Amino acid sequence: MTRRGLLLILSSPSGAGKSTLSRMLMTWDPTMRFSVSATTRPPRPGEEEGREYYFRNRADFETMVEDGEMLEHAEVFGNLYGSPRAPVEVAMKAGRDTVFDIDWQGGQQIKQAMRDDVVSVFILPPSIAELERRLESRGQDSPDVIAGRMAKSRDEISHWAEYDYVLVNDDLDATFEALKIILQGQRLRRDRQPDLSAFVRGLNEEFAVR
Ligand code: ADP
Ligand code: 5GP
Repeated sequence: MTRRGLLLILSSPSGAGKSTLSRMLMTWDPTMRFSVSATTRPPRPGEEEGREYYFRNRADFETMVEDGEMLEHAEVFGNLYGSPRAPVEVAMKAGRDTVFDIDWQGGQQIKQAMRDDVVSVFILPPSIAELERRLESRGQDSPDVIAGRMAKSRDEISHWAEYDYVLVNDDLDATFEALKIILQGQRLRRDRQPDLSAFVRGLNEEFAVR
């Protein structure tokens, strides 16, 4: 049976673990697609055009927005970020799920536009001290950048109650198990299985000839 692809939104304060969890999801189910965002922020060492982000200057980004190419967009840490619309529509029609690593503003916009197709999950850290430790141990950011991310965390966390599910990412494997359960339950929803009516009609036809 075919299924309409769903949009899985993962948000959290920076460092809580959403990139790690989305990578684990896509290894577990390679049919899932990661929504590669466009951003005006410069690439970090090791980041590749088209893999982590599409890196664009502000003028090009604004043109994409004006042309309706973005499903959502927002300003985060002084840079513009947005999710390109076209790949999401292709994936949905093909019955493939898309994972978004986006902030609460983006989550709200996609929910407003496509409520029935969205499952949103907020990831909380077990403590603020652990959040800071993870940002430091990730080794990607300077102390200044880490301080900026920590300052923004409180604001991001204040949106936790707008999400369908909330996971405290203490033990990574346990959080991943919970995330898979959420996804599997959502995939089985009646309204995500458009072929069910025809299937039940078939069952009734079988009754009729008994
Ligand atoms: P985010 O994408 O939310 O900014 P990351 O996935 O990059 O966060 O995780 C930040 C750091 O914390 C990474 O070094 C990652 O390996 C580590 N991490 C993620 N989840 C856990 C966990 N449950 N326990 C310990 N470390 C974790
Ligand atoms: P970073 O610069 O660390 O990769 O991401 C900073 C923040 O921007 C994270 O909270 C991330 O979830 C968010 N973000 C990344 N891409 C998008 C996007 O396309 N839209 C929105 N709204 N936020 C995004």
